[in-house]
Amino acid sequence: MTSPATTTSGTVRRASDSSPLVAAEELPPGRHFIDGQFRTGNDNGSLTVVDPCTENAICQVAQGTVADVDAAVGAAVQARRTWGTTTPKHRAEALLAIADRLAENAELLARLEALNTGKPMMVAEDDVAMSIDSFRFMAGAVRATTSLAAGEYAEDHLSVILREPLGVVGVVTPWNYPLLMVVWKIAPILAAGNTVVLKPSEQTPLTTLKFAELVADLLPTGVFNVVTGPGSVIGARLSEHPQVDMIALTGSVNSGRAVARAAAESLKRVHLELGGKAPVVIFEDADLAAAAESLRTAGYWNSGQECGAGCRVLVHESVAERFAQLLVDQVSTLVVGEPGAGADVEIGPMISKSHFDRVLEHLERAQADGAKAAVGGGALDGPGFFVAPTVLVDVPQGAACSLEEIFGPVVTVETFTDEEDAVTRANEVPFGLSASVWTLNAQRSHDIASRLDAGTVWVNSHLVLATEMPWGGFKGSGYGRDLSAYALDDYSRTKHVMHHTGR
Ligand code: NAD
Repeated sequence: MTSPATTTSGTVRRASDSSPLVAAEELPPGRHFIDGQFRTGNDNGSLTVVDPCTENAICQVAQGTVADVDAAVGAAVQARRTWGTTTPKHRAEALLAIADRLAENAELLARLEALNTGKPMMVAEDDVAMSIDSFRFMAGAVRATTSLAAGEYAEDHLSVILREPLGVVGVVTPWNYPLLMVVWKIAPILAAGNTVVLKPSEQTPLTTLKFAELVADLLPTGVFNVVTGPGSVIGARLSEHPQVDMIALTGSVNSGRAVARAAAESLKRVHLELGGKAPVVIFEDADLAAAAESLRTAGYWNSGQECGAGCRVLVHESVAERFAQLLVDQVSTLVVGEPGAGADVEIGPMISKSHFDRVLEHLERAQADGAKAAVGGGALDGPGFFVAPTVLVDVPQGAACSLEEIFGPVVTVETFTDEEDAVTRANEVPFGLSASVWTLNAQRSHDIASRLDAGTVWVNSHLVLATEMPWGGFKGSGYGRDLSAYALDDYSRTKHVMHHTGR
């Protein structure tokens, strides 16, 4: 493919207003939240939370220990006895009150999320809105559950299905959607009658702690607990803890493996939402302009730090040049900046220095492998961990940039020859979280969607989520479902009670 006309990388728009995004008094306590109270815990030093736009420290947060996890699990075990026997209506009312509290504080939560992650306000606001919606949905869904009808399936025996909570669920969350990933887990977990011990990412604990502060009076003590600290200590203890009945992680494949291994000893249930590398399969009959416009958002939302990002384009060779130029035209208009630099900012920084370095290494390696940056291709001027929105073309088949999760504002464009080639190539990544197919041929759209190994497949769209619909992967993307009634099932157990009716 001939490289489309390139544009040079832009600059980072900086916030001109010197007033901070979040005032010091609006920050949450930097301590664990255990048994209804913020606690310093066993003093083990602290973690520095960094603003990725400026590289300045925001605040310190307690670094927990195994003893802190054990204290939180103890509180959750106590609380499960009562919370687990409340009615769905009772729990639904608590969830609706939480949703209302989040809505009352939506603006603060969005600013705090933007400060901690550097994400644009439009992304942070969307995260908060979906968090509120998730609580409202789960409040309704838990009151409207269905299962097999009670009845006589064996002569003189009445069968009844009970749906019970599991007990204590350990939750470990990532840094890309700190609040939203907490809510995707705990809304169904709490709705199903479980209690929770949660560990946020060490880079982004602020909205999780703020959430705990905001809802402290809305849940009985011990139902929701937070322990901050490193995954290798806090996450590992939650995964192995004999009194934790299930462990749910959203994170990388390596962390997923570590959690599953640690959980194996106690045979607790495991729920894993891991990485992605979503193929975007564009046929020659597709609306190319619509596909390019959609990828402007779907490939770069949250600066590409998005497990469902449409980051791996496979386009039919006959329209590849035209599509690549359309995509470059779209991507060249993305506004990069700090969240305080305006409501129209669309791209923020990478979360941390180490992640920034990783994305840049990927870009260097891609170019060494023969790929060309048709737009972007490297870092933008600091301070902060900003990477230019990038489209890589002339990507050789099998290049690492087209198979590995980069998790930055980078979309690769490769070509395919026919349907068979398209499906084989789309499925060759080790992940299976999401994918999209672009064609105006109805039969082809159905055929290809059914042959793609992905938990979500969009047709003529990408990265549109609905709270009512399940989200989760196949293969290296893990197992278990977030969102929808399927998540409620994942966090419940089914018991068959059979009564002899003849005596
Ligand atoms: P990460 O795996 O580095 O960290 C995720 C969490 O796991 C953190 O809280 C971390 O402290 C913890 N952790 C690390 N080692 C652990 C261990 N041994 N035991 C228990 N916990 C441990 O991931 P990240 O960099 O924070 O997030 C990015 C990753 O998350 C990407 O791979 C992305 O695709 C994935 N992600 C997936 C989804 C999804 O819905 N599938 C959503 C968001 C992010």
